[in-house]
Amino acid sequence: MQAELAKIKALVTDMDGVLYRGKKALPGCAQLFAFLEKNNIRYKAVTNNATMNQDSVMTKLQAMGIDLAADKILTSGAAAAAYLAEQAPAGAGVFVVGEEALVQEFVKRGFRLAGQDADYVVAGLDRTISFEKLTTATIAIRHGATFIGTNPDKTFPVENELIPGAGSIIAAIEAATDQEPLYIGKPEPAIFHQVLQELDIMPSEAASLGDRLETDILGGQRLGMTTILVMTGVTTTKDIALSDIKPDFTYQDIPALIADWQQALNEKLVIH
Ligand SMILES: [Mg+2]
Repeated sequence: MQAELAKIKALVTDMDGVLYRGKKALPGCAQLFAFLEKNNIRYKAVTNNATMNQDSVMTKLQAMGIDLAADKILTSGAAAAAYLAEQAPAGAGVFVVGEEALVQEFVKRGFRLAGQDADYVVAGLDRTISFEKLTTATIAIRHGATFIGTNPDKTFPVENELIPGAGSIIAAIEAATDQEPLYIGKPEPAIFHQVLQELDIMPSEAASLGDRLETDILGGQRLGMTTILVMTGVTTTKDIALSDIKPDFTYQDIPALIADWQQALNEKLVIH
C-alpha cells in the first residue's frame, strides 16, 4: 500500500486543518513544501474559503513563515470566477452575495457587477449579509439568473466555536427561490478539474490531502485521485469509523505523512 505513495506526481492540499489552524502553522507545514519541491512533485493549496484570495492566503502563510507563490494557491472564489468566465457570454452581469475578495475575483475576470438583472448569482460566506442582498439574489434567480454556490460548508470554524458558513447563507437563498445552486468548491468536481488542469496532471497521478472526509476525501475519490487524510483538523477517529468515506491513507499529522512518503520513494529507488 505504501508503495502507492511513490506514484503520486501531484498533490492538491487543503489548507485549514492541514497547513494551519487559526493563525498557527501546523507541524510539518513548511517541510511539506520543501519535500514536494525536492521530489519534483507538483502541488497546489486549495481552499473552499471564498472570503480569501490568493494575496490574503499568501499574507496569512507568510505570517507563519511559509512562502508560497500566488500560482500555488486556489480559492473556491477564484475557481468560481474562472469557471463562469469560460461559459459566460461577454458582458454578462453577476450579483455576488459574498465579501470583497469574492467580488474582486469577478471584477478581475471582466464581469459586470449587476443587481436584479444579473445573469449569474454567486453566493458564498458573507459576514455582512443583509436582507437587501438576499432579496436581490432571490429576485435575480427568480428572473432566470444561474445560481452558483462557492462551497457547501454549512459552518465555519473560528477559535472554539462554529459560525454560519457559506452553506447557511446559500440555504436561505435556496429556500427563497426553490432552486439549488451549482457548487464549485470541494467535493464538487469543478474545482478539482480546474486544479488538475493547471497542474497538467491526470487524476490517477494526483492525490487530494485534507482534514475533512466529506469535502477533501470524497471530492478526490469522485475523480479517482489518491486520498490522504490528516487528523490535525476536524475529523476524529470516531468520524472515520462512522463514515462510508474511507481515505486511502490516514496520518496523525504531516510529519507522519512525509516520513512514510519519503520511505516509499526511497524503496522505489532501490527497486529500479
Ligand atoms: Mg480543511
